[in-house]
Amino acid sequence: MIKIGIPRALLYFQYYPMWKTFFEELGAEVVVSSPTTQTMLAQGSSRVVTDTCLPVKIFCGHVLSLVNECDYIFIPAIRSVQKRVYNCSKFLGLPDMTRAVIPESPPILDTDIDVNKGRHRLYYAIYQVGRHFTRNPFKVKRAGQAAWQAHLNYRQLMSHQGLTPPQAIGEVSAIPEAEPKTPSDSQASAQTTIALIGHPYLLYDEHINHRFIHRLEQAHCKVLTPEMVTTEELELAIARLVGRASWTYEDEVVGAGEHYLQSGADGVIGIMTFGCGPDSLMMDMVRRQATRLGTTPFMSLTLEEHTAEAGVITRLEAFLDMIQRKKRRQVAVCV
Ligand code: SF4
Repeated sequence: MIKIGIPRALLYFQYYPMWKTFFEELGAEVVVSSPTTQTMLAQGSSRVVTDTCLPVKIFCGHVLSLVNECDYIFIPAIRSVQKRVYNCSKFLGLPDMTRAVIPESPPILDTDIDVNKGRHRLYYAIYQVGRHFTRNPFKVKRAGQAAWQAHLNYRQLMSHQGLTPPQAIGEVSAIPEAEPKTPSDSQASAQTTIALIGHPYLLYDEHINHRFIHRLEQAHCKVLTPEMVTTEELELAIARLVGRASWTYEDEVVGAGEHYLQSGADGVIGIMTFGCGPDSLMMDMVRRQATRLGTTPFMSLTLEEHTAEAGVITRLEAFLDMIQRKKRRQVAVCV
């Protein structure tokens, strides 16, 4: 059986169930790299120039960890998944960059996903991947349809049942990725609701964010994430704040930020990385909106390779203290 490697980085949290279903329907076995470790980060960083953004360094580390584990590695170039809205340049060149910096990589299965080129080109891009497994276009079509359904089910699990991507992946995969969502004591008695905004490869990679969600839950916070908002709500929020999106995945930052600033969260925390051009613009829009509204405390956290755990904890504790003080003041005024 052909083994397809999928790095647990970058777009993994958005599309893993869809990709897994597609390849399995075509008779392949899917191998996923392990969760990020310091060794992966160090090895990935050693392959690219210093000012490459942290998630791409981590991606390279995951590819390296798959080198002797699979026959192919799947790395699509996702240019656009929404009309006239384009992705960050790092995603556009990802397969070529990987070939250049990791020459020992197994052959890379790549394809261009760009909805602006029309439906026919999109189907052809999917067929290009599928023909490595079968020459029967109908089989590829059936695999594509099953994969799309898996993606819709995955999205619905998150937006309707309030699961994070790792929890939803655990639900749809045989191997649990995260603790199943059961109302823990801390969640049940949660008094503070904190919304996290940012890309999934930052919010759910526990190595680079120093287990941020876990720390919030330990502090008895209820954690909300961008995936818990429906696509329609995110689009409405983007329309309110900026008119129309300029970047793919802007909904994870601007859409979720605007939505949670206006929907009663006690605080909003934006997570981004050093060296990210798109996020520095998008996060600034959310910060300005938070200042304009003046109702919901907002903090942005910039992660990089050398971000110390103690620094993250200190900022988080200070932010939560501020929210508690604000709540106590409100109660005092009401009384
Ligand atoms: S959006 Fe930012 S963090 Fe993500 S790949 Fe592009 S530069 Fe890196």
